[in-house]
Amino acid sequence: RAKEKGRNDYQIFNTDMKSVSINRLRLENELRRALVNEEFELFYQPQVDIGSARIVGVEALIRWRHPEKGLVMPNYFIPLAEESGLIVPIGEWVLRAACKQNKAWQSEGHPAIPISVNLSVRQFFQHNLKGKISHVLEQTGLDPQYLELEITESMTMDVDHAIQSLLELKELGVNVSIDDFGTGYSSLYYLKKFPIDKLKIDRSFVRDIMVDPNDAAIVATIIAMTHHLNLKVIAEGVETEDQLQFLFQNRCNEVQGYWFSPPVAKDDLEHMLRNGIAAASIAASGE
Ligand code: C2E
Ligand code: MG
Ligand code: MG
Ligand code: MG
Repeated sequence: RAKEKGRNDYQIFNTDMKSVSINRLRLENELRRALVNEEFELFYQPQVDIGSARIVGVEALIRWRHPEKGLVMPNYFIPLAEESGLIVPIGEWVLRAACKQNKAWQSEGHPAIPISVNLSVRQFFQHNLKGKISHVLEQTGLDPQYLELEITESMTMDVDHAIQSLLELKELGVNVSIDDFGTGYSSLYYLKKFPIDKLKIDRSFVRDIMVDPNDAAIVATIIAMTHHLNLKVIAEGVETEDQLQFLFQNRCNEVQGYWFSPPVAKDDLEHMLRNGIAAASIAASGE
């Protein structure tokens, strides 16, 4: 009996493990298929200059138009794509699609603005990153100054390697920003040493600026520091007018968040590029 039970336990455990890895395998295969069938799509979230209410940039964010599941968000598949290495071809697709779209907007007569693309760890450290990006820029005809690459603090831990990669990117003439700033390995050392252009204050700090004095102090201090270091700064996850006011008063120039717009499909973004966004609410806060 005991022996039998033991075996059953083992089998149950084993079945669970199996179903986990089968699900992962299935998702991985679906991701491969999605690449081939071009099921990925870019959404775009405007980055807004607080003072002028103008769209001064857009972030490209990947979505998966799944045949059965509908629109799938990146948090569901990016981690596995990263683990399996599929993030490299997926990331290349994103880069090419974003550059192509930005070039198209410029050709259609929209004011030239940079498009931000999130780089994964594997992409950032891949062999010949510079060559690959340079190739995409040439193919799409996008001027490098209109491409911004977002990296995270975790990619700065291998200091020498990161500096080397960043210097190569700077040689290309693209911009580099640190995404989710403050949530990772935030060493002040790299702010001094690394050739970066911009910090993106993580939305976990922005969320509570009106209720948590510590978060307010952290955000105000990050903004002040970026001015001293001659870096640009943008606050992520701005959802309320109060937050916007606080950021404006603390001299944060740019914001990105649901207050203006969530990430939207191409047509909606184009509508905003033509007509401006929520101009009234910002004008009020600028006074
Ligand atoms: P991220 O790069 O920090 O992108 C910002 C995320 O915050 C987006 O989620 C956006 O929808 C969300 N967000 C923006 N404003 C607000 C707000 O006001 N409130 C709240 N609650 N959320 C806001 P999304 O699109 O689901 O992307 C999640 C993460 O997935 C991204 O975080 C990025 O790390 C990753 N990701 C997205 N696209 C790509 C890609 O093409 N390549 C790679 N490697 N990663 C990507
Ligand atoms: Mg980002
Ligand atoms: Mg972010
Ligand atoms: Mg994030």
